[in-house]
Amino acid sequence: MSDRITHRLGAAVVWAWGATTLAPGLPGWQLAAGAGIAALTGGGRLSPDVDQYRTWRRLAAVIPEEQFGRPWLEHRWITHWVGWPIIGAGVIAGICPPAAAWAAWAALTGWVTHLLLDAVFGRPGYGRGPGVPLTPVGPHVGLGLTSGGATEYVIGWPVLIGLAGWFVLRGSGYSPAQLGTAVTAVVHGLDAFVTSL
Ligand SMILES: [Zn+2]
Repeated sequence: MSDRITHRLGAAVVWAWGATTLAPGLPGWQLAAGAGIAALTGGGRLSPDVDQYRTWRRLAAVIPEEQFGRPWLEHRWITHWVGWPIIGAGVIAGICPPAAAWAAWAALTGWVTHLLLDAVFGRPGYGRGPGVPLTPVGPHVGLGLTSGGATEYVIGWPVLIGLAGWFVLRGSGYSPAQLGTAVTAVVHGLDAFVTSL
């Protein structure tokens, strides 16, 4: 599953569920903004799929990765290593200021959700098996299930949007309209910023 939008929706759902379950009482705006942050690190340039974007590809083109025996700069190699989020969790728990921790955990949630979805739906390719790498240079583990197609968009997306909205609403005092505006503004604003880089 490499669809950016599906990844983002999945990340928002997992954040909204996790935050309302593990941190009840989180302010509604943090719940909504966290869903937006998780969506951004769950798919696209700020997610493990950064390895498919221009800057990374340029880097990969000049680094002689073959000398290390594996194509570790290709898609779903080193950026998808399961160890990164574990290190990230340690950094957040250890040195992140408490006031900013919710945002950092939201970003990590998006990243982890991406890896989980890729572990289930990531197809083989680029010299590797299905799934995500256990070490930065493999081996890969995953189910490699087929994804995509009309079912993903027609049924999957509405269900994910509904779930994310429900979890966030359940945990906050916001109306659906306020919530939708907040999440949309955060995602669009950050996406425009990142695209301009
Ligand atoms: Zn990926």
